[in-house]
Amino acid sequence: MSSSSPLSFVHDSLRQRVVFDSGRAVEAVTEQVEELHIRRPLLVSTRSAHAVAAAVADRVAPAAHRPDAVQHVPRRDADETTALAHESGADGIISIGGGSATGLAKVVALRTGLPIIAVPTTYAASEATPVWSITDDRTKRTGTDPAALPKVVVYDADLVSTLPRDLAVASALNALAHSVDSLWAPQANPINRVFCIESARALATALRSLAEEEAPDRDGRRKVQEQALYGCYLSGVAFGSAGSGLHHKICHVLGGTFNLPHAATHAVILRHVAALNLPELPTVADDLATALGGAEAGAALHRLYREVGAPRSLAELGMPEDGIAEAVERILAVVPAGNPVAVTEENLTALLTAAHRGDDPA
Ligand code: NAD
Repeated sequence: MSSSSPLSFVHDSLRQRVVFDSGRAVEAVTEQVEELHIRRPLLVSTRSAHAVAAAVADRVAPAAHRPDAVQHVPRRDADETTALAHESGADGIISIGGGSATGLAKVVALRTGLPIIAVPTTYAASEATPVWSITDDRTKRTGTDPAALPKVVVYDADLVSTLPRDLAVASALNALAHSVDSLWAPQANPINRVFCIESARALATALRSLAEEEAPDRDGRRKVQEQALYGCYLSGVAFGSAGSGLHHKICHVLGGTFNLPHAATHAVILRHVAALNLPELPTVADDLATALGGAEAGAALHRLYREVGAPRSLAELGMPEDGIAEAVERILAVVPAGNPVAVTEENLTALLTAAHRGDDPA
């Protein structure tokens, strides 16, 4: 197959059911458990999802419950939860919470072959991807496997309504990072680009409303959250198809090595990687600019960041300045082939230094 033709590519469409059903997460999960003939679900949740997890447990009588998933999937948690699945005789997994719950469920699914019903409470979008991760000794490993892709996703906008404003903004920017990074990721193609651009449009619109201090009425708020979930889902589909680009490789290293908050780290890094790569992709950059509501993509991203009060620096997230050199060394070892700009120790150090200080990208 020639790589010279722009219409020469390979695209896999992944099989997954998505249910959007605001206000009905518990009922929708119960229906999907029945459809998948799951009798003994393992429940995996984050602490913040305690109430909805308890309501689901009342309906589906779980075989076991792991209620304390944390970010980056520490290996010990993965081992313990896999053992829990085996010991309890679980025949399916229900994950309820942010990307931490989904991520833990994915590693257990990978090891056991159990189907996942994912119920997200953030905009992480992990539920829409076959990408798994596990962290061991300050090193986050990731991989892609269809067994890690949830069989069903249930989106209920009411579940994201409890996110504090700053976390909602950071999380939606994490979703936007999937969309933007997928534009130059290793398997980027014209099909997943459609998802990237539409998700960027939906997320940029929703982000501006999510960031408003004065909430509209409940119905208005719900519509915004539904739009954000719609954009988040599309961003996950794009990322699951296009693979991890430079932005994700950088964030995986920072998250795994320094245990930084996942969503905010993505939010800080995104505009720096965009400033590096977008000038090499003028057509794509034009499409992204339109999606973000501006004439030029970099400037439109800056404006969006200002409007929504996005997190700006790695320092404020707790990364030590003397960690930059170690991060650069680790990232250089995993830079994706085909990044539109050659990544060197020099430009990567400059990028991380600017991101650490919160400077605007060069
Ligand atoms: P998270 O799940 O840890 O949630 C962040 C914080 O918000 C936690 O303290 C959580 O308890 C709280 N929270 C979650 N939902 C809430 C709600 N509705 N109301 C109030 N508080 C709430 O973090 P995350 O950013 O959602 O996900 C991060 C994890 O997901 C990381 O481990 C990351 O690697 C993984 N991830 C994976 C992929 C993938 O494709 N594999 C994609 C995105 C994220």
